[in-house]
Amino acid sequence: MARYTGAVCKLCRREGVQLFLKGERCYTDKCGVNRRAYAPGEAASRRGSRRPRKMSEYGKQLREKQKLRRIYGVLERQFRFYYKRANSMTGKTGDSLLQLLERRLDTIVHRMGFAPSLPAARQLVLHGHIKVNGRKVDIPSFRCRPGTVVTVKEKSNQLPLVLDGLRLAENRTQPGYLDVDRKKLTGTVVSLPERGDIQVPVEEQLVVELYSK
Ligand code: SF4
Repeated sequence: MARYTGAVCKLCRREGVQLFLKGERCYTDKCGVNRRAYAPGEAASRRGSRRPRKMSEYGKQLREKQKLRRIYGVLERQFRFYYKRANSMTGKTGDSLLQLLERRLDTIVHRMGFAPSLPAARQLVLHGHIKVNGRKVDIPSFRCRPGTVVTVKEKSNQLPLVLDGLRLAENRTQPGYLDVDRKKLTGTVVSLPERGDIQVPVEEQLVVELYSK
């Protein structure tokens, strides 16, 4: 299945929350969710000419799963793999699922403040601008573990994406499981992320219920 290449703001409007897929624009009044706070195609129900649909339990579970997939930019097949893996781990499956997604290299690059959004971080990784433990890694799904050192390549440190990321990160709280030196464009994963560290607007329990049917 191909990766989604359409307008990403539609994804946020579909889910009814900001998924922060565009970087700087997400923090301005131009954000699509703020400007048009209804799902794509729902203009008729807003005008009152169509009754809004009531969502079933299954519908709610499906929406939470789609939201999580869209936040991390993961395809359905990959997502099922993450779920299976999380289900085989000790502890709560929902927490493990989020932890696995949060340990992806593209996510870590964004959380460290080296890219303004997750899709931008994915692009940096794919284009070979990121080193892991001193070696180039261009696999966005590469799983980081405690002790992993992530660095922006020296010749890439003036890229607009990197500079935008650093600027936006100044207003964000650094997750406790990362130790970052933004001047040197390097950071270390110091521990595994706990649920409290992961700030995503998702009820992961609904995703678990969906897959455990
Ligand atoms: Fe989503 Fe960002 Fe677009 Fe707002 S600007 S709708 S948060 S991608």
